[in-house]
Amino acid sequence: MDPLARLEADVRRDLNLIAHPRLPWVKPITAPDGAPALDVLVVGAGQGGIAAAFGLKRAKVENVLVIDKEAEGDEGPWRTYARMPTLRSPKDYTGPDLDVPSLTYQSWHTAKYGAAAWEALELIDRIDWADYLLWVRKMTGARVENGVTLTGIADADGLLAATVRDASGERVIYARRIILATGQESAGAWTLPPEVAALPGHLRAHTCEDIDFAALKGKTVFVLGAGASAFDNAATALEAGAEVHLFTRRDRVQVIQPYRAITFAGFMRHLADLDDAWRWRIMNHVLSLREGFPQHTYDRCARHAGFHLHVGAPWLSVAEADGGVVVTTPRGPMKADYVIAGTGVDMDFAGRPELAGFAHNIATWADRYTPPEEEANPRLGRFPYLGGDFAFQEKVPGVTPLVSRIHLFGIAATMSFGPSGSSINAMTTAVPRLVSGVTRGLFREDAAAHYADIVAYDVPQAVVPESAVIDHGRVKV
Ligand SMILES: Cc1cc2nc3c(=O)[nH]c(=O)nc-3n(C[C@H](O)[C@H](O)[C@H](O)COP(=O)(O)OP(=O)(O)OC[C@H]3O[C@@H](n4cnc5c(N)ncnc54)[C@H](O)[C@@H]3O)c2cc1C
Repeated sequence: MDPLARLEADVRRDLNLIAHPRLPWVKPITAPDGAPALDVLVVGAGQGGIAAAFGLKRAKVENVLVIDKEAEGDEGPWRTYARMPTLRSPKDYTGPDLDVPSLTYQSWHTAKYGAAAWEALELIDRIDWADYLLWVRKMTGARVENGVTLTGIADADGLLAATVRDASGERVIYARRIILATGQESAGAWTLPPEVAALPGHLRAHTCEDIDFAALKGKTVFVLGAGASAFDNAATALEAGAEVHLFTRRDRVQVIQPYRAITFAGFMRHLADLDDAWRWRIMNHVLSLREGFPQHTYDRCARHAGFHLHVGAPWLSVAEADGGVVVTTPRGPMKADYVIAGTGVDMDFAGRPELAGFAHNIATWADRYTPPEEEANPRLGRFPYLGGDFAFQEKVPGVTPLVSRIHLFGIAATMSFGPSGSSINAMTTAVPRLVSGVTRGLFREDAAAHYADIVAYDVPQAVVPESAVIDHGRVKV
């Protein structure tokens, strides 16, 4: 038998072995269109959305639909703007498998390429990771519709009415809960410094965009930022034959990866159980350091003579000049043919069409917690302040109650939970917490109906014939 086919049989067997409790329990609800509303609409079929759907299925929340605006296979960054040959995370980090051994990346890799190949593997190939995610999706039976974009969410008598757009137009999907597994931009957008954004499009890009690297051959490219993605874009430009200057305003590049220090079970499970002062203090430290890049990411740039690393070099001004871009740093002006900004994401609820209708009433960290002056950080204050079930909280209670039925499982969850949404290493702890939050809400909402069912339950487990019973005739009460 083909090893992958054998593994797939193992997965089916394993999932069946751990299927307890099997009883369906979520009450069907009829939507305004007369059809049953979804239990949960998951938006985003990247690793987070697929793992969430899998977790829900294991909790017997089965009327779930996952949508993604991209075509099948193009979900997430892996085949588009992720410009590194391999993942940066260690190969033994498990995640989308939700602790089912036969569903791990290692099992898939070993079945596909052999045990020796796994032993020899240093880091996971980026395209293999994307293929693996598609395989997990197939094996866990997620119901996915691709090419479907969520454009709005409104309340519909206690249900959520999700407006979606696809090739055939616009329609409404009704659901009891929505999970936004929409990745890095889940509650905002990739940001460009205003002066870079003001440049004509043919002179600048963000690292998340399509970039014609072949056209940069022989050109001078400036990269702003010193995170891993900035280095990946610098390397891709260098490999295309460009000269690259990479700038950071910090006086040294970040080579420590703070996420390694917090990748332990206690932290990942219980950061959210700490009070706000501790959560803020810890995450302010981690997120102010930003993510460090690994050695191979740096080496990929440093092997090119045309690579120049500038530290202590904020861009004081940026202007179009003579068909290029003049950037002024404390050392004076320098000229580039093209500029790439690796400047990350910022929160902007109102800028996300699906959140715009109630963005004004989504509670942020700044609404809920004021840190001591030495820990002030307006960027982190803009992160959503999520409930223990990953749901948005209302700034003013009662104004937009629908927000508490929308669960955010993207990078914006990081301030509330530490690594959680949009994270491989936290998935095995974060997804069960998310699923438990969703099931808690669904169960509580139907408590009266469950009580009625329990009282009405009348399925005999055994047959006791009347002839076997000696009735003493006591008056029945
Ligand atoms: C360039 C890059 C490299 C990374 N490398 C690593 C790494 O090596 N190791 C590691 O551990 N982590 C890495 N990460 C971090 C993290 O693992 C990834 O961001 C990962 O893709 C997060 O998964 P996700 O499911 O949360 O989001 P995504 O994979 O981004 O999936 C979100 C999905 O939501 C869809 N979507 C968004 N909005 C809508 C909408 N309105 N309607 C419908 N669909 C929508 C998108 O099309 C997308 O497919 C990297 C991140 C980036 C950006």
